[in-house]
Amino acid sequence: MTAVWGLARATSVALVGMEATPVEVEAWMGSGLPRTCMVGLPDAALTQAKERVRAAVLSAGYSWPPQVLTINLLPATLPKTGSHYDLGIAAAVLSAQGLVDPASLRGLLLFGELGLDGRIHGVRGVFPALLGASRLGITRAVVPANQVGEAGLVEGIEVRGAATLKDLVDVLRGGPGVEGVQSEAIRRGDGPSGDLSDVMGLPQAKWALEVAAAGRHHLYFHGPPGVGKTMLASCLPTILPDLSANEAMEVAAIHSLMGAGVDHLPVRPPFADPHHCASLASLVGGGARVARPGAVSLAHRGVLFLDEAPEFSTQALESLRTPLEAGEIVLGRSEASVRYPARFQLVLAANPCPCGLAATPRSVCHCSPMSIRRYAARISGPILDRIDIRAPIQPIRTSLLAKAGKEEASRVVAGRVAEARERQSRRLRDTPWTTNAELPGPYVRSLPPPDGVDVLERAVTAGLLSHRGVDKVIRVAWTIADLMGADRVGADHVRVALSMRQGEEIA
Ligand SMILES: [Zn+2]
Repeated sequence: MTAVWGLARATSVALVGMEATPVEVEAWMGSGLPRTCMVGLPDAALTQAKERVRAAVLSAGYSWPPQVLTINLLPATLPKTGSHYDLGIAAAVLSAQGLVDPASLRGLLLFGELGLDGRIHGVRGVFPALLGASRLGITRAVVPANQVGEAGLVEGIEVRGAATLKDLVDVLRGGPGVEGVQSEAIRRGDGPSGDLSDVMGLPQAKWALEVAAAGRHHLYFHGPPGVGKTMLASCLPTILPDLSANEAMEVAAIHSLMGAGVDHLPVRPPFADPHHCASLASLVGGGARVARPGAVSLAHRGVLFLDEAPEFSTQALESLRTPLEAGEIVLGRSEASVRYPARFQLVLAANPCPCGLAATPRSVCHCSPMSIRRYAARISGPILDRIDIRAPIQPIRTSLLAKAGKEEASRVVAGRVAEARERQSRRLRDTPWTTNAELPGPYVRSLPPPDGVDVLERAVTAGLLSHRGVDKVIRVAWTIADLMGADRVGADHVRVALSMRQGEEIA
């Protein structure tokens, strides 16, 4: 309290979407009747922070300035939301009173929420906050003790944990901080644990899944309930390639923002399967004050599975168009729009009719042809347009099941998928794309036409295939060629791809 009387500073960050911006917390004590005010565009939750921090400081046995105290968050123009500024505010107030050395706060990121009793609580977004801070050149941080593991995944930042405000003061006075405690509740598996070897039979549907994985094509399973659509879809992440280091960080950041807790960098692609009753906000992201990521972002770099897709509201299905096109979602808020990545592989599953029984042998379905048509039409053209593979799944007869041999394990299929991806990235190395599903129509048409293109021309003439459909068939044909280890697309590849496009049985 020498140079500037009663002024102290601490550092935190604001998270707008995944973007971290440094925020300076200033605490200033002046003469006058005791009063605390907070400035710098805080939201309602943050305005309550002064009461929370005051109670915590007093509970922990420290004093609160008995005069005018102004807390300012800079830059003032940046909207600030959330409770994670508590630690920064408490540290600045203690420092303004001379209770901790201002030097100990220099270049130190403080991120965490205080309880009224002085305990420090975990907050959402520790991983993206520290990742952003590290890119801003910050090298030290104090986080809630139960999030030391998550914070420690960020390279280049020395992390200390604190379970109470007293622990924080200890750290600021040169103490070691609290050992990280990983709460059981936030331990998380790495994607679904199923395996293709658990799925009996269904060779054609498994092949469709393999082609979808190899070219990263969106996929549509249709068939009666209980034939294994859900189980197959949940196996897709088990045959996709591992996440790259950058992808793993993006996935971890989203999980952290969802409050899911992150104790390791994920290796396998994520899988999200929102229910058709889920709110629009939980599907695409949103929320009253803070726009949180939704299922489309939780599926980023992995799989978004919509079971009983026609049961989703039209609004929900339409909301997938933007992320399918742009690979991200922008959520508008009054102060600022928030952007979350949402580059997922879409898998839809649908029953053949509202009751689900239309396609079963000896059908007992009483749905009218009109209601069946209306049911199928719920998935609109623009969404279907993005789906390259339509795979019917028929119930397996028990006689066939009895004869079924040993099923192939996911890891074997994943090996072939990885080789096919290799071939794609080699072939596409001079383009901005890495997988066949991404290739735009004009690029596909600029390639030499494959053998068997006449089959496609006949399908177009017969009105069985649209011109856009031709591009899709060729994209899938490329993936099939890649899976077969072929250097060019042959007539057989085109024929198989065409049958997948039309959802026919593969001959
Ligand atoms: Zn029916």
